[in-house]
Amino acid sequence: MIKALLSDDEIPTHWYNIVADLPSPPPPHLHPATREPLVPADLLPLFPMAIIEQEATTERWVEIPPDVREIYRLWRPSPCYRARRLEQALGTTARIYYKYEGASPVGSHKTNSAIPQAYFNKLDGRTRLTTETGAGQWGSALAFAAQIYGLTCDVWQVRSTYESKPYRHVLMETFGAACYASPSGLTEAGRALREKFPDTPGSLGMAISEAVEAAVKDPGASYSLGSVLNHVALHQTVIGQEMLKQLVLFGEEKIDYLFACAGGGSNLAGIAFPVIRENLAGRQDVRIVACEPQAAPSLTQGEYRYDFGDTAGTTPLLKMYTLGAEFVPDPVHAGGLRYHGMSPLVSFCRHEGLLDAVAIGQLEAFDAGVLFARAEGIVPASESNHAIAGAIRQAEQATADGTSPVIVIGISGSGQLDLPAYTEYLSGQMPDS
Ligand SMILES: *Cc1c(COP(=O)(O)O)cnc(C)c1O
Repeated sequence: MIKALLSDDEIPTHWYNIVADLPSPPPPHLHPATREPLVPADLLPLFPMAIIEQEATTERWVEIPPDVREIYRLWRPSPCYRARRLEQALGTTARIYYKYEGASPVGSHKTNSAIPQAYFNKLDGRTRLTTETGAGQWGSALAFAAQIYGLTCDVWQVRSTYESKPYRHVLMETFGAACYASPSGLTEAGRALREKFPDTPGSLGMAISEAVEAAVKDPGASYSLGSVLNHVALHQTVIGQEMLKQLVLFGEEKIDYLFACAGGGSNLAGIAFPVIRENLAGRQDVRIVACEPQAAPSLTQGEYRYDFGDTAGTTPLLKMYTLGAEFVPDPVHAGGLRYHGMSPLVSFCRHEGLLDAVAIGQLEAFDAGVLFARAEGIVPASESNHAIAGAIRQAEQATADGTSPVIVIGISGSGQLDLPAYTEYLSGQMPDS
């Protein structure tokens, strides 16, 4: 068997909230001025109440609205494959599977959260969404979702990728959104950053400051975040719930290793949190490994402390592994992984020893991605290449040890719009970092 497909009625009916099963409650988000735990009213200028409730809920299961499940049917359940040809290419004794999120309308897992976020904003009567985007996947996912629910959408894209990945903003514009290179001249935060750092390549932290400011200044607008926050991790748990069922279809009752890339932590949370639930219940004993880029190694080299989510210091304080809100990573190709912080829930899991992390250089990631593409016929997103590289290290270890573990890779997206990065790699011009 090469691929396990589920039927439309096997799309999960609920999102899974790991907070209900964690050994202790994760630290709350704090108000940036008072440093007191946030209350819902603090977030109302930014988010609709349904999203605020999801951010704080301790319920184990949150029902997916039927309307959202209906839209999910456009690409969910996503396929899960046995990577037999990759196994052959590696000559490995390991059994390798991958859960592929690249077949969504914009080519990544981001639509899993963009659709419910747009839905709850529409329900709340908001008419406009603002957001940031790194490599452009989140911006295009939200542009698509806003279009579905008749909302306008403004996206601030990190300047370095706005320029290096031009087709991403064309994709956003195709869905009807407006996209600006950040820092832009359209916000106070953007103008101040441009004055202070005229040649900056931009960063997610800067783009978040701009999108938050635009939302706060417009009462009809809401801000949407594509990663990091608890409600985003919650929405992504459809991935892991499906994957666990699919591995059973392959006849695999036990998984040994799970690899996913981690930027803000949402695709990792999505595939891993339902697995951590199994681990905590004693039904599985999976070693979960977050694969982050060496250019932004928050989980492996950051400090676990309260920090801002953005550069201007306007967001709530989040307890997370962070490199510091001022940190501007090198403009590596995996734009979606260039973030100074990490999801507070993923950070807490890491702190509690529920998952491990490794940092992987850009060249090793692309070596892995190209090998994967040649074997499996799918060109992975630059970000996903980090997860593949982590899994290949493990498979090679298994071959050396003569063991045959079950390795699952979360492949968060397609690399069709990352071909400029592949061009650089194939021509030998890609710097390592
Ligand atoms: C956004 C993105 C990432 C990084 O974000 P996470 O929140 O860490 O998942 C990884 N892969 C792809 C394809 C992305 O679009």
